Amino acid sequence: MQRTDFRNEPFTNFQDPEERRRFQAALDRVRADLGRHYPLIIGGRRVDTEGRIVSVNPANPQEVIGTVARAGRQHADQALEAAEQAFARWSRFDPEARARALFRLAAVLRRRKHELSATMVLEVGKQWSEADADTAEAIDFCEWYGREMIRLAKPWPLYRPEGTDNETFYIPMGVGLVIPPWNFPLAILVGTTMAPVVAGNTVIVKPASSTPVIAAKFMECLEEAGFPEGVVNFLPGPGGEVGEYLVQHPRIRFINFTGSLEVGLRINELAAKMQPGQKWIKRVIAEMGGKDAIIVCDDADLDEAAAGIVQSAFGFQGQKCSACSRVIADQKIYDELLQKVVERTRNLKVGPAEDPDNHMGAVADENQFRKVLEYIEIGKGEGRLVTGGSALAGAPEKGYFIEPTIFADVDPKARIAQEEIFGPVLAFIKARDYDHALEIANDTVYGLTGSVYSRSRERLERARREFYVGNLYLNRKCTGALVGVEPFGGFNLSGTNAKAGGTDYLQLFMLAKSVSERL
Ligand code: NDP
Repeated sequence: MQRTDFRNEPFTNFQDPEERRRFQAALDRVRADLGRHYPLIIGGRRVDTEGRIVSVNPANPQEVIGTVARAGRQHADQALEAAEQAFARWSRFDPEARARALFRLAAVLRRRKHELSATMVLEVGKQWSEADADTAEAIDFCEWYGREMIRLAKPWPLYRPEGTDNETFYIPMGVGLVIPPWNFPLAILVGTTMAPVVAGNTVIVKPASSTPVIAAKFMECLEEAGFPEGVVNFLPGPGGEVGEYLVQHPRIRFINFTGSLEVGLRINELAAKMQPGQKWIKRVIAEMGGKDAIIVCDDADLDEAAAGIVQSAFGFQGQKCSACSRVIADQKIYDELLQKVVERTRNLKVGPAEDPDNHMGAVADENQFRKVLEYIEIGKGEGRLVTGGSALAGAPEKGYFIEPTIFADVDPKARIAQEEIFGPVLAFIKARDYDHALEIANDTVYGLTGSVYSRSRERLERARREFYVGNLYLNRKCTGALVGVEPFGGFNLSGTNAKAGGTDYLQLFMLAKSVSERL
């Protein structure tokens, strides 16, 4: 099959009045359609249940985005059955045909781009540009993994001794469970689902409970793209119930999880226990949290650094695994940098994400709201509050809005410098010198993203070797990894280092088989 080279999906230019008008129209259409109900989808059939998950707009919790059926164990069993039946056929599809299905899906996502992005603006409080980037990443995953499958379908280049016809090739594994988070509710959902699918597996998707509507719309896109029934089964429900049940199920072959450290470790532990009738060691891919740091050296361009810090710390309210939550600044420029960052932060406008003039929206849900405020209280005992520090007036009833918050003079071992807060809270830490800065940066259980601002070649090169993170950025912000450009995944307790959007990713969902025939 002839395909053009991979290119990242371009972001929408919201400076263009026509694009703004189009996006506003999409928001209006999505709003007019709010409140729909979405059943489970098992083997292509819509299955309704008594239980309901109600998804609300975090900027206005009275506004219901939609309701989604809540699956129980019997539905999980049915979904497994359907996925196993579909596996028998889907696994035999030609890899190129599976890739073609992903390209078609990419085209459907592209056609529905603004609608999907607008849904995320309302369901999870993404700013227009953040939502647009989320959808673009979902499209990129389809285009990238499709091409990857075509590449990997070729047998391995091996030595062929005389008299032997030998080959090694990949085969799919079986039925997998996909458990994505709410923070990239389309991109991560699509990436973690379609990679195993293009590799020939079938899956059960248990979407995050805060963002089930965008997940249901993704299921519509799969149908529109003509995916065979049962290849992807849609099973919303509480992670601790239906999720754990399937994690432990002996017929689940692999689990593709992205989420918090706590849940990732629990899944890893539960999945490791052999169950009666189980025939394999489950493969667990667990991509988890971060406590990402930006180091600013005494020779850095401080204005650039301040701009990068504010974007990395407060974009999408700091709710990215890659978000900057620690600034480690050389003592010589610490005060000046702090002042620049605080000034920029005070200029951030907080309000509903659907208004593009707002830089920051509400945090995702009530749990997030309470957790972030608890950490702000902890921070008040651990650092010097320099800006922010509370919820907006009227919250939470009028939306889960929290001010962008900065604490200065935080001890590197303080809780707010060690634990993932996952909200708009930034800790400033003073370093004696670059050695000290690197030491502090590496001293958490995580190792996801990091950034260094410096004009020194020597320092930048040292960071390449010694800053122990899966995604390192030099003289730029630490968020916004692009598929096929910056394969993404961390070290240590940030996860299993599955590099999403890279050249090693699909192999995680396949087995390699060697066949040798004597001639
Ligand atoms: P959670 O860990 O709370 O939830 C993630 C998913 O796991 C949800 O679908 C959730 O379902 C499900 N889940 C919860 N408990 C269980 C359980 N006991 N068994 C099985 N499944 C369960 O994470 P968040 O959704 O809050 O996402 C934010 C986290 O994700 C942050 O820590 C962030 O750093 C991390 N993340 C990591 C990325 C990476 O690439 N390393 C990328 C993006 C985010 P339910 O919603 O029903 O509870």
